[in-house]
Amino acid sequence: NNDIQPLGSPCASNKKQKVGQQITVCVRKRPLSYSECKAGDVDVVTATEGQCVIVHESKKTVDLTPYISQNKFYFDHVFGEESSNEEVYQRTAHPLVQHMFRGGNATCFAYGQTGAGKTHTMLGSSSATPGLYILAVQDIFAHLTTARLYPHLLVYVSFFEIYNGQLFDLLDHRKKLFARENGQKVVQISGLREIRVDSVSSLLEVVSKGTSQRTQGVSGVNPLSSRSHALLQIQLKEPNQQNAGRMWFVDLAGSERASDAKERDKRRRMEGAEINQSLLALKECIRSLDKKASHTPFRQSRLTQVLKDSFVGDSMTCMIANISPGHSATEHTLNTLRYADRVKELKRKGDAMEKRGRKTKSSYKQNLIHSNCSTASS
Ligand code: ADP
Ligand code: MG
Repeated sequence: NNDIQPLGSPCASNKKQKVGQQITVCVRKRPLSYSECKAGDVDVVTATEGQCVIVHESKKTVDLTPYISQNKFYFDHVFGEESSNEEVYQRTAHPLVQHMFRGGNATCFAYGQTGAGKTHTMLGSSSATPGLYILAVQDIFAHLTTARLYPHLLVYVSFFEIYNGQLFDLLDHRKKLFARENGQKVVQISGLREIRVDSVSSLLEVVSKGTSQRTQGVSGVNPLSSRSHALLQIQLKEPNQQNAGRMWFVDLAGSERASDAKERDKRRRMEGAEINQSLLALKECIRSLDKKASHTPFRQSRLTQVLKDSFVGDSMTCMIANISPGHSATEHTLNTLRYADRVKELKRKGDAMEKRGRKTKSSYKQNLIHSNCSTASS
């Protein structure tokens, strides 16, 4: 990453400009895949660079006349299918890295249906498309080494997943971990392995081993990864081990799994209920921070419990809601956008009339917008 922007003043001076929570909610639409194109799926999402995303939903009037209903949503930023991970990084995680270098806590979430692009965004799909955490780490090491502003700081990584309300250490053979609140109400994960890394390549090696641990537990068709939240933590520490800034990258469980809570299979039902609970709790926690409410329900799920310390105090949070473009995914896409919309209601004057999911019955008898199947990756 040669275009690194300055990361703020060194930690040593640690001047926290503004204590409080800053929350950003973005949407990223992925391109229609080759297999979706082949199966005849069509692109029903308009997401041009900016703040608005439109989902065109085919409906029928009472007399069965087809029409297209437009569902409009507004967010802090919308990334279209042409956006690269680098562009997404610059607008989402880069400010969080800057915040971390000022000694703050930062969290970046990827939310959405399985297959919508969460892992592509967070961890990357191949070495050609590094994910946000890799771009962040490149940024971090570039500043630690090139800028020589922070020669004393050390970088630590930890990586675990939350599956069915339980914590498993991905850097320690999926060892079961326990999170507890201590007397000072600080949540501690006892036994969590923290590995010190001194270069981008050593961190990548550690994380890729962890990622393979994540999928090793898989059997059958439904990958476990879609039913677990993966939490990657990058910490800056002083030589005396004092925390000097921390950042989380969270690849959330597939949001559609929340509806497994209605499944007949008991295990699936329990997993679904757990995912549902944690995604609801996450939404409520971010909402209440955004609204500066007096109570934040961190204890309502394991996910929000372990992230509590990253939310309180001087924190920055960014949620990226990943959406699929296809007609076949419309319902999940709308659910994702409604969720993201609830996480943060965009406060902008003049938007009130045009906001969130208001359905405009545009041109009756209009057909679905057909996409050109130009981009394909799977
Ligand atoms: P999720 O983690 O949400 O289940 P993935 O990140 O695994 O979804 O993405 C599903 C597929 O779509 C993968 O093959 C991935 O490479 C591809 N994909 C996702 N987002 C993009 C994108 N922005 N550009 C190109 N391909 C993408
Ligand atoms: Mg994934």
